[in-house]
Amino acid sequence: MGLGPVWKLRGRVRAAGAPAPPKAAVERGEPRTAPRRPPPPRFDPVPGINGGAKLDSADERASRILRMDWPELKSAVKACEACGLRKTCTQTVFGVGDEQADWLLVGEAPGAEEDARGEPFVGQAGRLLDNMLAAIGLARGENVYICNVLKCRPPGNRNPEPFEVAQCAPHLLRQLELIKPKLILAMGRFAVQTLLGTEASIASLRGRLHRYQGVPLIVTYHPAYLLRNLPDKAKAWEDLCFARRAIAGLQSPGTVPT
Ligand code: URA
Repeated sequence: MGLGPVWKLRGRVRAAGAPAPPKAAVERGEPRTAPRRPPPPRFDPVPGINGGAKLDSADERASRILRMDWPELKSAVKACEACGLRKTCTQTVFGVGDEQADWLLVGEAPGAEEDARGEPFVGQAGRLLDNMLAAIGLARGENVYICNVLKCRPPGNRNPEPFEVAQCAPHLLRQLELIKPKLILAMGRFAVQTLLGTEASIASLRGRLHRYQGVPLIVTYHPAYLLRNLPDKAKAWEDLCFARRAIAGLQSPGTVPT
């Protein structure tokens, strides 16, 4: 793509087509073996992010969403008018990939191309993301699921509003619960703030294993940011290598990097 540091494969997470290791084997020592619901949805109020529009177990809509299966969730997202963005977008962008993936990648919101095609990360940032995935032996749809915090495009690609994030958050949480990934890669400020409930910078959160709903979570830069800040691609590469080691460590308990 001529974008500077080339993403090179330096070892594979898993050979293409190789069967996924049984989830139970990697869950030893992980709280994910415990029933995953309840706890109540954990999108706590974060100043500037959800503006105190707390979704707790009393929130009937959130509770309903958190009981949905895949077809119900897809229909609910398609029909959702909770935040108003559906009025201005072309279509909802639910997410794409392996619904039993080990890797869950979370971005911000659909852009113009995603809005037109109904699939996340299909524009320029998406092409970079695909290259990044290929560099660690992964591919969209193969043991990877990609979605966004928001399922509707904010007009003019403006930042998501706290109310929009709060309304869409149960959809993301339910996707996470249904997929049961081994690792979440939170890409960019909005994914990180939504999932970790913090306003800390990406820079300060990188390189550590966080957890969301008991699932290991790694923080990295958003691909669109990397397109504007080419030198930081090296840091994103470090994050991906860290994520690859983390997944490998989860397969060999006791060696999870911290
Ligand atoms: N940026 C995102 O965060 N998500 C997309 O789907 C596309 C661009």
